[in-house]
Amino acid sequence: MIRVGLGQDVHRLVQGRCFILGGVEIPSDRGELGHSDGDVLAHAVTDALLGAVGMGDIGELFPPSDAAWKDADSMNLLRIAFSRIQVLGWRLVNIDCVVNCEKPRILPYRSRICESLAAALGVPPESVFVKGKTGEGLGPVGEGIAVQASAVCLLEWP
Ligand code: MG
Repeated sequence: MIRVGLGQDVHRLVQGRCFILGGVEIPSDRGELGHSDGDVLAHAVTDALLGAVGMGDIGELFPPSDAAWKDADSMNLLRIAFSRIQVLGWRLVNIDCVVNCEKPRILPYRSRICESLAAALGVPPESVFVKGKTGEGLGPVGEGIAVQASAVCLLEWP
């Protein structure tokens, strides 16, 4: 059996926060606002994986109302969520992602981001791909006040 999952997330970009994508800190004058570290890509990937098996979403597993997840490392949340999926016998085939962000450019960091996500999920780096797209100056992404991420995944069982 194979299952696909889709995850999407958006975070406001503000000064005084780190800009983190897939566990990789990227130099920027703004970073993601969030209850956790705000890693928008880790959140989208987590939701894609959970959605593929119908296991709820990241907000249900790690509620923002729970102080335990304040400033949490989102890659750790991703590892916890995926471990719950893995114990059911699911294997991750691949993940494909898009990050919509006006700046900074994602491309110079893409390899590191793919490697970081792959390492967290225990798959080869070539099983994870991340593309960066600008907002062409349009909307909150284009204005540089938001970053958005989308992810699809394919799981197979057994
Ligand atoms: Mg989020």
